[in-house]
Amino acid sequence: TAASGGGLVAYADSAAESASEPSQNAPKKKVLVLGTGWAGTSFLKNLDCSQYEVKVISPRNYFAFTPLLPSVTCGTVEPRSIIEPIRRMFEKKSKDVTFYEAECFKIDASKKTVHCRSAVGTNLDGNGDFMLDYDYLVVALGATVNTFNTPGVLEHCHFLKEVEDAQKIRRSVIDCFEKASLPNISEEEKRKTLHFVVIGGGPTGVEFAAELHDFLVEDLVKLYPAIQEFVKITIIQSGEHILNMFDERIAAFAEEKFQRDGIEVATGFRVVRVSDDLITMKSKSVGEEVSVPYGMAVWSAGIGTRPVIMDFMQQIGQTNRRALATNEWLRVRECEGVYAIGDCATVSQRKIMDDISMVFKMADKDNSGTLTLKEIYDVLEDICLRYPQVELYMKSMHMLDIADLIKGAIGDAHKESMVVDIEEFKKALSHVDSQVKSAPATAQVASQQGNYLAECFNKMDKCKEQPEGPLRMTGGSGRHFFRPFRYKHLGQFAPLGGEQAAAELPGDWVSMGHSTQWLWYSVYASKQVSWRTRVLVVSDWTRRFVFGRDSSR
Ligand code: FAD
Ligand code: MG
Ligand code: MG
Ligand code: MG
Ligand code: MG
Repeated sequence: TAASGGGLVAYADSAAESASEPSQNAPKKKVLVLGTGWAGTSFLKNLDCSQYEVKVISPRNYFAFTPLLPSVTCGTVEPRSIIEPIRRMFEKKSKDVTFYEAECFKIDASKKTVHCRSAVGTNLDGNGDFMLDYDYLVVALGATVNTFNTPGVLEHCHFLKEVEDAQKIRRSVIDCFEKASLPNISEEEKRKTLHFVVIGGGPTGVEFAAELHDFLVEDLVKLYPAIQEFVKITIIQSGEHILNMFDERIAAFAEEKFQRDGIEVATGFRVVRVSDDLITMKSKSVGEEVSVPYGMAVWSAGIGTRPVIMDFMQQIGQTNRRALATNEWLRVRECEGVYAIGDCATVSQRKIMDDISMVFKMADKDNSGTLTLKEIYDVLEDICLRYPQVELYMKSMHMLDIADLIKGAIGDAHKESMVVDIEEFKKALSHVDSQVKSAPATAQVASQQGNYLAECFNKMDKCKEQPEGPLRMTGGSGRHFFRPFRYKHLGQFAPLGGEQAAAELPGDWVSMGHSTQWLWYSVYASKQVSWRTRVLVVSDWTRRFVFGRDSSR
């Protein structure tokens, strides 16, 4: 029954369920964080580390500001400017936070342990393996590249995921220019060497192409005047348009700008094979294969699952998925004390139709078997908190009120009384679940999740009393509870080169052009994780304005 904690929130196995009474002498609970990317560091920054014994594992002892990685590929920003040492980030918390530079290769949820491997041998037998145990595990391992098993991609393409990747790309671009400048090179060979191909027309691919184009026209043409006519950039995109996760106006603006810039955009082509000098792609409409010679290729066509996550999903029976499924409180389903945030995870939102009879019963306070509008209004807030799709659906249908939804179901005959039975209630909400969307794999989502989870951890013992979420339906009010995680989209940018950018901001607001680029500069400067990196990034930008980019290797 409602009073015994059932009802609308009975499904919410929340963060606090295993929290125990904090006592003076009880040892602190062990929190183990895997990964120091956007999700992991945002969790650590917001966690009250003094409440826990915190350990952090990552094979890289720094955080990388990934949105500026494309700028590193052409030397607009230096690699050192976008990374922040982990130990420095948590200097003030160093009493409570221990960092180990190692890779986690196995999570054993049944034993509550994690197996790690350091690159340096530490044991007597010469390897660097060790094991850690935890009470709470925060999996924030991010994602890896996805080649979709396309032959030759791993061997011949560059990726743009890590700082080292960006540095390799930078060297490789310069290599191509130096190679094409050597004597005794045929025109055909020059053309091939200076053909830069980007596979994947998402934000990363597009930004890289734009960055490369700027590097060419602003710096390299002056330094390599003899070969500038042989340079070509191509973006290969399997969909109809590039930037298809953005508003169509932005995609159109980007395509037009690229056309003016001479960047070729090949849409509707899927790359099927890559050899050391040819990229073979297949037209989706005609089905015919074409091969193009290239000098350098960057693959940015999707994200994949890390092996350690794959192995863990297998253990807990989550198969055939890209990412770890969590509940709305970011806890891994069927897995005690394990949370997952960022690119390695997706929230699976409960469907309201799965719970519809329960929701109906909860709302029907007088057990009449029917709901009045007032009964619905009384629980509407809780319903929207637990099933955000209800609100999204009403918004998408331009409905101001749930009464509109109900009217649609009961028809004109009963309009006066506005009383619904279970069948009509079901009918009214039957399309609502179509609005369930998973959040994109972005830094914005990862950091909001890290932040949210830290808040839950900070409040864990306060919430112990009634952890399952909104309580008004279960009779209590004003007590603490965990809201389910909800992503708040603050908009996104697409830098397009030539000091122009496009932005999509909340409220269907789209902006494009030079002023948007300035907005981009200020937003990205303000988002830097420390004053040190902020100063470095801004001075890199200034240096580039004044002196151009550095074209040495
Ligand atoms: P990551 O940030 O990737 O962090 C994963 C962490 O886990 C890293 O510290 C890694 O070293 C560590 N790790 C990996 N394997 C192991 C292991 N076996 N054991 C222990 N630790 C491990 N998003 C935006 O919102 N806006 C942008 O403009 C934007 N631009 C981007 C540009 C590029 C080039 C790229 C690649 C991504 C961009 N993103 C952007 C996406 C954003 O970077 C990711 O969504 C975000 O990094 C996800 O955070 P995360 O913490 O889940 O993963
Ligand atoms: Mg992380
Ligand atoms: Mg990162
Ligand atoms: Mg995610
Ligand atoms: Mg009733």
